[in-house]
Amino acid sequence: MNTTQKNSDLARKALLSILEDEKIAKEKLRESEETYRNLFQNAQVGLFRTRISDGKILESNEQLARMFGYDSREEFIKEYVTSQNYVDAGTREKMIEIIKRDGVVKNFEARFYRKDKSIFWARFSAKIYPDKGWIEGVAEDITELRLMEAKIKYEHEFRKLLMEISSRFINISFDKVNSEIQNALAEIGKFVNADRAYIFDYDYNKNVCINTFEWCAEGISPQIDNLQNVPLDMIPWWVEKHKKGEILTVTDVFALNESDGVRQILEPQEIKSLITVPMMNENICIGFIGFDAVKKRRVFTDEEIQLLKVFAQLLVNVKLRQEMVEQLIAAKEKAEEMNKVKSYFFANMSHELRTPFVGIIGFSEILSELITDPEQKEFVNRIHNSSKRLIETLNKVLSLTRLEFEKPKLIIKEINIEELLDESFKLFSKAAEKKNLKYIKNIFTDRKYKKDELIIKTEDSLLRDIINNLISNAIKYTNEGSIELKSVIEKRQDGKYLIIKVADTGIGIPEDKKEIIWREFRQVSEGRSRAFEGTGLGLTITKKYVELLGGKITVESELEKGSTFTIELPVQRVSQVDTSITITETDNTTEKDSLINVQPTKRILYVEDENIALDLVSRVLPKHYKIEMVKKADEALEKVKKNKYDALMIDINLGRGIDGAQLMEMIRKIPEYKDTPILAITAFAAEKDEKEFLLRGFTHYISKPFSIDDLIKVVRKMFKDT
Ligand code: ADP
Repeated sequence: MNTTQKNSDLARKALLSILEDEKIAKEKLRESEETYRNLFQNAQVGLFRTRISDGKILESNEQLARMFGYDSREEFIKEYVTSQNYVDAGTREKMIEIIKRDGVVKNFEARFYRKDKSIFWARFSAKIYPDKGWIEGVAEDITELRLMEAKIKYEHEFRKLLMEISSRFINISFDKVNSEIQNALAEIGKFVNADRAYIFDYDYNKNVCINTFEWCAEGISPQIDNLQNVPLDMIPWWVEKHKKGEILTVTDVFALNESDGVRQILEPQEIKSLITVPMMNENICIGFIGFDAVKKRRVFTDEEIQLLKVFAQLLVNVKLRQEMVEQLIAAKEKAEEMNKVKSYFFANMSHELRTPFVGIIGFSEILSELITDPEQKEFVNRIHNSSKRLIETLNKVLSLTRLEFEKPKLIIKEINIEELLDESFKLFSKAAEKKNLKYIKNIFTDRKYKKDELIIKTEDSLLRDIINNLISNAIKYTNEGSIELKSVIEKRQDGKYLIIKVADTGIGIPEDKKEIIWREFRQVSEGRSRAFEGTGLGLTITKKYVELLGGKITVESELEKGSTFTIELPVQRVSQVDTSITITETDNTTEKDSLINVQPTKRILYVEDENIALDLVSRVLPKHYKIEMVKKADEALEKVKKNKYDALMIDINLGRGIDGAQLMEMIRKIPEYKDTPILAITAFAAEKDEKEFLLRGFTHYISKPFSIDDLIKVVRKMFKDT
């Protein structure tokens, strides 16, 4: 082979080899293109290339075309321009801004219209090629995910709303329940996007259901007035379902038979679909809540139905609670009514029983002064004493009865406790002397007391009654030895306490009787072997009084050695004393001062319709005062208009017409009588009266029967106080 031949052979080989290489290269390219195309076309995500300027699709895979609702990518590429298909305005601009700034967008989410104008959520990441004028990226359909998220969020919000509603019902006051049910219904109705929400009660006795609450969305007509007595016979299958505790849904009212009562009721209300949830009290369906779709048909999800069930149960609980409160209120009103009746009965009895005593006590007192024959005097004194004892018993029974059904209001005053104890002590000195008992007073001697330390705030009359009763008992149950009244003020960690002790060396109380003595009508010696007279009410009342003053009473006793009753009253923390009315006044003048100040020329008008009382008062008072008497309210009014009286005494019970309290109020309106002392005379005994009359405008009070002494004292007090 010559060189030329060799060369050309080489060249041919080389060419062949080049051609071969090219072929291989081409083959490789084809392979890689195919791989790329396969990858591109078969990818499970959408791949795209779009024009920056308007989002025109330049290239896409089948997956993306299908995502956008196209059957072929060719058609998709031909038609679709993203800038015209973003659902939410401004979203594309936002994406372009990011991609131009960063070169890429990652996981950008946006809503697009499909070919058929339905909407879906896409999430995409892309890169920009500014020199080529396009954007390339990968996209996926996240509609399912989004729906799931929205569903979870919706259910979460629904639960939250139910929690809020139920917590609002927990401490709700009775009068707000209905408005709160109405609010809750509206909130739930709006939340589930219903057109109408309502509550019905079943009344099986009347065989009807009644629409009790209704909420309507805007533009939806209310139906509550038309649905007050829907006969259950019209909707038998509906009621049956509810009775079984089953939820009832009507997805399409028009699918129901035309003759169906349910359709006949729902159709005029323009309801398309509805859901009703029974309200079950244990196994009994007491009503239902319902939600209407009027504008368009509506299907409720299982989760929604579950939550509506919770709401229905919540309403059942609220309704049951409300019923309970209603029953309680009714019971309370009934009890109050009973109390009123009791109160009238009590007042009348008190009046009827006390009035005759005015004559008995008053006239026996006068008779005793007039009679000189010692035997006759003794008889009269017995009448006097017996009637006094009877009135004491009566007073105790009345006090206790009143305490039983009414808590008395306290009138708290500043009093000098030393003086009060002194007075009580003196009151019984004669009785103690009569029994030859050593009568000892040992009050505030344990240390030097500052004067104002002994001024305490309390209800004067209650405290007096407490102490008098204890001293009286001590004397009664002691035959020899001594009675001692002791008192100190103790400083304790929680404040100051007034301690009062009444100690005796009497018969004592057996251990097993120490409890019963506080109970009403109970005594240590009872029944046939009863050794002492008495009602067994004194300590019961005393204990109640002590407790009213915020204190406590205890007894220490040893049989045949004696007893010590101890009262502890908080003195500093007056606020702790349970009181509705607190009148604070300081009264340092004594009865003696008032006696000196007596003015015999004072003019008094006495209004009283009972002859015995008029007669008695006319006999004892004129010695000191100019007294005029009238029997009727109108006569009294005429008199006060004509004359100026320095004081008035008005009996509360003036027979027919206006009563003494009303008369006083009329007189108070006359300017000259604005501050005139006016005494209320009443036979309607017990504490409450006194306080009530004083609050109404009387300045003084005396209850029948009163002794001559009491009457003179209170009249003097009228002039001293004002
Ligand atoms: P009354 O004295 O009218 O029977 P009380 O309620 O005051 O009623 O007292 C109840 C009972 O307690 C008395 O009957 C008596 O047995 C007993 N009691 C009260 N005080 C004393 C006392 N100081 N010493 C002994 N026993 C007493």
